[in-house]
Amino acid sequence: MKRVVIIGAGLGGLQCGYILSKNGMQVVVLEHDRIVGGCLQSFRRADTLFDTGFHYIGGLGEGQSLHGLFRYFGLLDLPWHKLDEDCFDEVVIGNRSFAFANGHERFVETLSRAFPHEREGLRRYAEMLRQVGEHLPDTFLPAGEVSRQGDSYFSESLFARSAYDFLCDTIHDPLLRKVLSGTSLKMELDRESLPLYVFAQINNSYIQSAWRIEGGGQQIVDRLTEQIRLNGGEVRTNATVTSVTERDGRVIGVRVNKDEFIEADCVIGAQHPYALMQLLADCPSMRKVYRRRITGLQNSFGMFTANIRLKHGMMPYENRNIYVHKADADLWHVQGDEAESVLISYYCNGDAIDLLTPLRWETVARWAMTPQGRRGQDYVDYKQQKTEECLHLVEQRLPQLRGAIDKVYTSTPLSYQHYTLCHHGTAFGVKKDYRSPLTTVLSPRTPLENLYLTGQNLNLHGVLGVSMTSVLTCAELLGMDTLAEQLDVKHWNK
Ligand SMILES: Cc1cc2nc3c(=O)[nH]c(=O)nc-3n(C[C@H](O)[C@H](O)[C@H](O)COP(=O)(O)OP(=O)(O)OC[C@H]3O[C@@H](n4cnc5c(N)ncnc54)[C@H](O)[C@@H]3O)c2cc1C
Repeated sequence: MKRVVIIGAGLGGLQCGYILSKNGMQVVVLEHDRIVGGCLQSFRRADTLFDTGFHYIGGLGEGQSLHGLFRYFGLLDLPWHKLDEDCFDEVVIGNRSFAFANGHERFVETLSRAFPHEREGLRRYAEMLRQVGEHLPDTFLPAGEVSRQGDSYFSESLFARSAYDFLCDTIHDPLLRKVLSGTSLKMELDRESLPLYVFAQINNSYIQSAWRIEGGGQQIVDRLTEQIRLNGGEVRTNATVTSVTERDGRVIGVRVNKDEFIEADCVIGAQHPYALMQLLADCPSMRKVYRRRITGLQNSFGMFTANIRLKHGMMPYENRNIYVHKADADLWHVQGDEAESVLISYYCNGDAIDLLTPLRWETVARWAMTPQGRRGQDYVDYKQQKTEECLHLVEQRLPQLRGAIDKVYTSTPLSYQHYTLCHHGTAFGVKKDYRSPLTTVLSPRTPLENLYLTGQNLNLHGVLGVSMTSVLTCAELLGMDTLAEQLDVKHWNK
């Protein structure tokens, strides 16, 4: 039986473990942290449950983007909670507020009320997003097979198109452009680099439908872990892979916690590829040019998060996300020094709320050498200042929030780097660049024939993107024909 060692028990590593163990391989998933999940970990503070990198997902309804993948992974019966279809996302810019509704027609209709002169542009915008979503199953077509829509090249070519140019070509009113960009703290909007594919595929899935989970995102990774174990695989925590060993151009195993050696027929790096490159000192066949390319890739911004426990009954639950932006914020060039945009995300039980705002590594790098939990008073003061910036921005929309706060817990890119070893605490991993898709959109293959990559850094980030990429990585070992059949891809859009 082929033994596959997977480095990292985030969503990507666990999904690969699930697929490969289901297909008869002997799987060992090794996680550096004390719990599985990576960015999908939930944690408790004085009995209140918080999430790290899970707030909501899109496209879970039947026939939608994520449905077929989550059916395959056995995740559809978790306690999903649908957001308000008339307004799953609210965008607040200055003193004006705009609703995003589910369903492409309703989405266009709702925004056309505020922008009647842009009805046609909105229709074209929504139609493009819908088409990108419809082509999603093409990703899993065996090589050479032509898609139902007739053009399997469509999706790939969108990695080489600018999201910002598409927006400007389609929508002329600058305020509407800002509104349409206003829910996009779930990716780094950058007019110089963001590919249309990333913008369209992610936004489309949320227009289809939007969902929270009751009881924490950890349930997703716990379910996958349970299934891997039932399939005979191992998932180990407190197991940091400290090096990867190669012989004659093939990986032969990994060292765990500098001590134990685990043999492998193949290895999947499910962590940030920069971190993987640091483990390859014992792999002389790994080409220098590849290492240089990977270590030189740019990353998306990190996040500052304020997890807020609320006093009981003081803040009504809202079944939507609220994105608040300063009137003059440039959403396509996030500086990240001062909070100009904040996502307000509710928990289903109404006990807590998260505030998130982008934060760049450079801003917190001066504390990088200090130990987690003991970084000093100036770091504590800085986080307090950041919390204040967020509260100041959101209090116009939620004037009752300050009075409802029981306790605030904060995290920065330093926390993310500490817990998930992701390079510079990046929230969404490697930045894809439409000007150089061939170098920034990574293949699961590496120059070592039995070393593969997976996770958010390759193709598309987020729960949808990572789920898609897990299938692409496993197809390298099992063949896309086998997986496409198991996933029943041919019937996804029906
Ligand atoms: C603040 C924030 C909010 C987000 N909100 C959403 C959202 O609402 N919806 C959504 O769809 N997406 C969201 N995302 C994105 C989503 O969480 C990620 O895209 C996804 O979880 C990444 O999964 P991954 O498996 O690629 O990486 P990770 O979760 O980073 O997993 C990598 C794992 O590898 C482990 N590891 C690293 N090095 C080693 C080693 N040497 N040995 C052993 N283990 C190792 C790490 O500890 C980690 O567990 C959010 C992300 C952030 C940061």
